[in-house]
Amino acid sequence: QAKTLGRNAYSFFTKEMNTAMIRRFEVEEQMRNALERDEFEVFYQPQFDSKTQKVIGAEALLRWHNPALGNIFPDEFIPIAEQTGLIVPIGQYVINESLNFLSSWQAQQNGDFVMAVNLSPRQFRDKKLLKVIKKALKNANLSPDNLELEITEGVLMTGQSYITEALIELQELGVKLSMDDFGTGYSSLSYLRQYHFDVLKVDRSFVNGITINKEDRDLVKASIAIAHSLGLKVVAEGVEISEQLNILNELGCDYVQGYYFSKPMPGQKFLDYTENYRLES
Ligand code: C2E
Ligand code: MG
Ligand code: MG
Ligand code: MG
Repeated sequence: QAKTLGRNAYSFFTKEMNTAMIRRFEVEEQMRNALERDEFEVFYQPQFDSKTQKVIGAEALLRWHNPALGNIFPDEFIPIAEQTGLIVPIGQYVINESLNFLSSWQAQQNGDFVMAVNLSPRQFRDKKLLKVIKKALKNANLSPDNLELEITEGVLMTGQSYITEALIELQELGVKLSMDDFGTGYSSLSYLRQYHFDVLKVDRSFVNGITINKEDRDLVKASIAIAHSLGLKVVAEGVEISEQLNILNELGCDYVQGYYFSKPMPGQKFLDYTENYRLES
């Protein structure tokens, strides 16, 4: 009897689950020293004013190349970094890198841009977060409103007091707050109000359907109206075709970002792209 049960319990772990567990373990192992081995690189995706089509800023998106595992994408490694706490030093790296980059970009092109950086829930538990951000801004000689922190509803849903406190401190410092992936979670509206967000990012899934699906179009329209009534700017992410851009413009969307303009790029490529773009337009 016990033997049968034991065997059944064992067979509960399918081959697929086993493979997934091994993969997760390997990713975690490799991630532990990835910063020291300098395997991370921050890519940048430009953001544009919908009307003038001028570049207004960029989103910093992390890339990881590991000799043993190849390229691992954020959708896989960010959740693991989050669970293990490794997101804290990795996130600090992204903040430092991207702000230094913004500083050279501004100097080179004599402009004033915004760098949007994604923050995970776990990073708020780091007591040094505010200090790290202040120091990075100072080192890069930037003003706080050059930095925009992208936060998903998941961060706020925990209802933890340290998160509220950190958000208030960040606001007092003067950095911008952006609600990422808007429309994919719950009760986002009350959060927008409560935490005085500056920017709302309409999720890619809605932008994707905007040309074919009336529901998506209505949802984006309503999101823009709500954002504007609360004094927020709206960024649409995942714009891939000109029809989407046209509709977003009709709906009054402020800023756009997506493959229609450009994929995320390594720093030097981004500088070349924005420099040429500026001279051409
Ligand atoms: P996100 O913050 O919502 O970032 C937007 C994602 O959409 C990026 O994927 C970007 O490359 C992709 N994207 C942009 N335009 C288009 C488009 O036109 N079409 C399509 N199909 N995709 C587009 P990526 O770089 O793979 O990042 C995935 C997610 O990983 C991000 O979603 C963000 O939640 C997280 N992430 C990335 N970098 C960081 C980071 O440095 N820190 C933290 N905490 N999370 C990060
Ligand atoms: Mg984002
Ligand atoms: Mg997003
Ligand atoms: Mg997203």
